[in-house]
Amino acid sequence: MEDVMGYVHSVETGGTVDGPGLRYIIFLSGCPLRCQYCHNPDTMKMKRGKMTSAYELLKDIATYRSYFEQGGGGITVSGGEPLAQIEFLRVLLWGAKQMGIHTTIDTSGYLGKKADDELIDLIDLFLLDVKSWVPETYKNVTGVEIAPTLEFAKRLQKMGKEVWGRFVLVPGLTDAPENVEGVAKFVGSLDNVSRMDVLPFHKMGEHKWQQMGMSYQLNNTEPPTPESLAHVQQVFKDQGLNVH
Ligand code: SF4
Repeated sequence: MEDVMGYVHSVETGGTVDGPGLRYIIFLSGCPLRCQYCHNPDTMKMKRGKMTSAYELLKDIATYRSYFEQGGGGITVSGGEPLAQIEFLRVLLWGAKQMGIHTTIDTSGYLGKKADDELIDLIDLFLLDVKSWVPETYKNVTGVEIAPTLEFAKRLQKMGKEVWGRFVLVPGLTDAPENVEGVAKFVGSLDNVSRMDVLPFHKMGEHKWQQMGMSYQLNNTEPPTPESLAHVQQVFKDQGLNVH
């Protein structure tokens, strides 16, 4: 496969939450969503990223091979939205698979239609963020429609691909019982979801919104209480999901 240039925001090594084992995480720039709670608003615009050669990145990834083998890890392509730069993503994943490295992408699924089956076959694990269930809430949280994410989730099930589901609990925004139960029932109905992460909202990205002169709508929102987080986790467990 030929080299391709892509817009990369940053790279992090040693991540432990974005997939199994120790991860080399590549944050790509560009995302069509505008999530109110985004931790990385500086990744939303593609051209803010640094033009990078996929081959150069793969050379760096290759130096971590023994570390992946010992730690059971691999690469996770995050963002931004990794599916926003399909051809760059394809070369990265292809190169990683050539080296026998485990591959994961962290996606909202909104651009799932852009991914052909060959690309999907290069991905071992999908971190799929189902940001809400009630269509109006989904739109309010992300600025886009929910349908493409649901279609993508069903397609991954059909293809038998492993998925870890994700849901961010934001008091006053995503915590309505109908919304939580809808996500839990939908994800629980899929037979390819091996783990579900219910993530409490936090404000770690707030300063980035301010730095970028963008208005942050959750200034007055606090993280969920431990009780409410435990309650929502139970709603997911009741659907037979392996909740973390
Ligand atoms: S999908 Fe992710 S990167 Fe895109 S706006 Fe939402 S939280 Fe931010």
